[in-house]
Amino acid sequence: MSSHPHFTFTDGSTLEAGTIFGIGKNYAAHAREMGGEVPASPMIFLKPPAALLADGGTVRCPAFSTNLHYEVEMVVVIGEDCADVPASKAASVIAGYGLGIDMTLRDVQAAAKQEGSPWAVAKGFRTSAPISRIIPASLFSSIPDFTLELAVNGTTRQQSSTTYMERSVAVLVEYLSAVFTLRKGDCIYTGTPEGVGRVVAGDVVTATMSAEAGAVGVPTLTLSVGIA
Ligand code: MN
Repeated sequence: MSSHPHFTFTDGSTLEAGTIFGIGKNYAAHAREMGGEVPASPMIFLKPPAALLADGGTVRCPAFSTNLHYEVEMVVVIGEDCADVPASKAASVIAGYGLGIDMTLRDVQAAAKQEGSPWAVAKGFRTSAPISRIIPASLFSSIPDFTLELAVNGTTRQQSSTTYMERSVAVLVEYLSAVFTLRKGDCIYTGTPEGVGRVVAGDVVTATMSAEAGAVGVPTLTLSVGIA
């Protein structure tokens, strides 16, 4: 990648990407399929900005993993430097909403869990953060909900809505901004619904995200990546 990691908005504007925050187990049905529960406090992990992969790119599974998983997620892009943002003010620090896939080396993650080690490799390897274009938050009067879908080779594997998130975008912004300083260009992968699974070299993963009923003039986002 020659240019600095960045987001491209649906209006053509761009924003340099910063820290990528990930949220674990934010949908109850996914927490259950992973053999756990929604944690008492948000589960946070990080990916480096260079992990971002634009629409049409190729996810490259490292040679040391044999269990690469997809996780479709709504992504919130932060629009200003901020700290200690109350949930009631969260909308004011959001630049936009995108569609991402939190690619995960499930075998590496399982070993890290067993060892009590960090998830940096399992979650942050190169190409681990496919990202669509970003819908400007200015198109919405409040934080919207979106439907999420993901298909592998044309077969639907995940289909849900952000209405099923255990912790809302506003609550996540409040929590994260109380711990970290959030900066313009940071983003939050807000967690995946149930239906995660394995992909192998040659697969094509496609995802779509649409605003829930009532949104006028809001584009449907699509994202497609190959697996190698
Ligand atoms: Mn995830």
